Amino acid sequence: MKQFKYVLLGSGVVAGYAAQEFAQQKTGKGQVAIVTADETIPYDRPPLSKQFLAGEAQRKDILINDASFYKKHGIEVLTGHPVVKVDLRQKKLRCKPGGEIRFEKLLIATGSEVRALKIPGADLKNIFYLRLLRDSEAIRKQIKKDARAVVIGSGFIGMEVASVLARKGVKTTMVFRGGRVWESFFTPAISGFFQDYYRKRGVSILTEDRVIGFHGKDTLEEVELESGERLPADFVVAGIGVEPGSSLVEGTGLKLDDGIVVNEFLETSIPNVWAAGDVARFPDAVFGKQRRIEHWDNAVEQGRVAVRNMIGRPQPFIHVSYFFSDEFDLSWEFWGDTEEHDEVVYRGDLKQGKFSAWWLNKGRLMAALVLDRPEEERVMAPKWIMQCRVLNPAILRNEKRSLAELETKDAVAEKPELTFV
Ligand code: NAP
Repeated sequence: MKQFKYVLLGSGVVAGYAAQEFAQQKTGKGQVAIVTADETIPYDRPPLSKQFLAGEAQRKDILINDASFYKKHGIEVLTGHPVVKVDLRQKKLRCKPGGEIRFEKLLIATGSEVRALKIPGADLKNIFYLRLLRDSEAIRKQIKKDARAVVIGSGFIGMEVASVLARKGVKTTMVFRGGRVWESFFTPAISGFFQDYYRKRGVSILTEDRVIGFHGKDTLEEVELESGERLPADFVVAGIGVEPGSSLVEGTGLKLDDGIVVNEFLETSIPNVWAAGDVARFPDAVFGKQRRIEHWDNAVEQGRVAVRNMIGRPQPFIHVSYFFSDEFDLSWEFWGDTEEHDEVVYRGDLKQGKFSAWWLNKGRLMAALVLDRPEEERVMAPKWIMQCRVLNPAILRNEKRSLAELETKDAVAEKPELTFV
């Protein structure tokens, strides 16, 4: 039996950055352990669908900390330790193999579980999902000039993977059920821009269709669509979303609701147990609602804040959610939450791929997407979202007016307060 003051369950992005925080806070050697089924020490996930997939980054480049970091700070990383039972009252984890691990304080950072297709032929070889390093490595091996790929879904994975494959000379077809790319997130104008961009770079885009079966002997040969079309394919990458990785803690007494419910200090319904990252449903003070966020930045920031709370330096999690994405030679950033908006204002030029989009709700800035625009837009977007700033759309959309003008008093109608719910 092993015993630690602090145990991190899971070795994803949360664990890697939480380990840095423990080191910065000088927690002391031998106090912290990361327990994981994974065979690899924590690595960053964003490159798995970008540079790493493209063969432009290697394993060592994506590690959050080198192996020597954990050694230096006395943080034990128990890889190859799949946890089979979590007992939060007795404060112990049972691993197989590895026996029991006891903790005083636990951070659950089990991330997400990939949603899989349950259709005929789904167990054929060369049908891939992308979550872990080994998934990205397996897809990478399929990348050959003129190989034929079908990418299912047009969310993060669909968009990023299709662009890498096309860039590497793979004949790539995207299939998704929406009428335009990333319909649940992009505005029609933004979908239109990306769709044109992809088609001009050789990606075939099949909208309003779904995959109903895969065909082949042992290995995939054809993808069957609901429309009746059959696409010859050497491999498939499906990016059809994820579910919170909370199955391991079901029945442990933790309050669950599409993830593990935590308070503003990221503490769960059981004392001395915290949760962070994709698995945590937390009160977002900026938007005054419960959210669960599946982004790298959220995992980094929540990991750090959770550690401060665990070591007795209380700090609420107040943060403007953020992500970035790269496709072909485009790189864009996004802040906030578009769910409640009544207007979208654009600056710049959509056709040129130099634009920003600002989602407003009765003038209050809810979200912003910035692609190849002046630095002031990147700076103002998160600041104004955090301030719950109400903007004058006429000034915002007027390219001749500087954003600094929106900082003036008469451009601000009211300023709602941040609240935890
Ligand atoms: P996602 O962004 O949620 O997109 C899922 C896509 O699959 C959507 O197009 C959705 O369509 C579609 N879909 C859902 N269920 C389906 C089904 N049963 N059949 C067919 N299509 C279905 O998820 P993802 O692309 O799989 O990415 C997984 C995770 O990786 C996300 O949590 C994401 O945050 C993370 N990730 C992030 C980044 C980044 O931050 N840049 C990059 C890569 C991955 P509808 O819109 O119609 O529902």
